[in-house]
This record gives sequence, structure tokens and C-alpha cells, in this order.
Amino acid sequence: MSQHPENNSNIKEIYKKLEAELASIDPGCNACGTCCHFDEFGHVLYASTIETDYIQKNVEIPSFNPDKNVCPFLVNNECSIREHRVLGCRVFFCNPDHKETLQAIYEKYYTMIKDLAIDNEVEWQYAPMMKMLKEKSN
Ligand code: SF4
Ligand code: SF4
Repeated sequence: MSQHPENNSNIKEIYKKLEAELASIDPGCNACGTCCHFDEFGHVLYASTIETDYIQKNVEIPSFNPDKNVCPFLVNNECSIREHRVLGCRVFFCNPDHKETLQAIYEKYYTMIKDLAIDNEVEWQYAPMMKMLKEKSN
């Protein structure tokens, strides 16, 4: 886990900038929660250690069955940790209209988050979020 409390505010600022940039594009999402059922949706959500540390510092990670491959923060089909969710959640939109723009935004913020981790000597691991959460909840 991060030894650097300042990461908490820095990652928050990065997410804040990201949200402002996404709002200017407004790719559209009806918050149906379908994409948080990873098997059903056919994709894998990746996250970094610095981001899952940020989640762990701010919310309790519920016990969950990784075999179900549904995000444990999905409650009544709504994200229960919107403020703390990771980059991969924030930049994913099923609407294909802005695919290239969103990919560029993803790469830009991935680099910012990685630089933050390196600057603060936080281990850099980018892996499926379910696996990382399971390790933290053990
Ligand atoms: S991105 Fe699409 S699938 Fe995911 S919550 Fe929004 S509308 Fe639903
Ligand atoms: S953190 Fe929230 S948005 Fe991300 S997969 Fe889980 S429920 Fe969905």
C-alpha cells in the first residue's frame, strides 16, 4: 500500500481533470451498470495499485466471489464508489462514437497516474481490478 498520504489528493486532482475533459465530450451513459458485469459484457477492467490503494483508503472492500466476475462495488446495478472509481471505469463508454478520442484520453491519464506512482515510489502494477481487489480483501 502507498506510504504517501499526499497521493490521495493528487489522484483526486487527476480524476477531477479527467472528469472535466470527459464532460466536454459528453459521450453519454445511462448508468445501466451492464458493463460492470465483466463476463456478461465480455471485457476485463484493469487498474493500477495506486488507484486500488485510493479505493481501499476511502471505502471498505466488500467480500466477494471473484468467480462471478461482477464488480463488488455494483449495488442495485449502480456504482457505489463513483467518486473513487478507477481510470478504466471512467473512460469506458459503450457508445462507439468517441472511441479514438477516449483512447487518447485514456493514454494521457494512464501516463499521468503512472508518473504519480513513480514520483511517489508506489509499486506500479496494472492488472485486472478483480484480482487486485481480491488480494486486498484477503
Ligand atoms: S457505459 Fe454503457 S453499458 Fe456501461 S453503464 Fe454506461 S450505458 Fe451502461
Ligand atoms: S467501480 Fe463502479 S463503475 Fe467501476 S466496475 Fe465497479 S461498479 Fe462499475
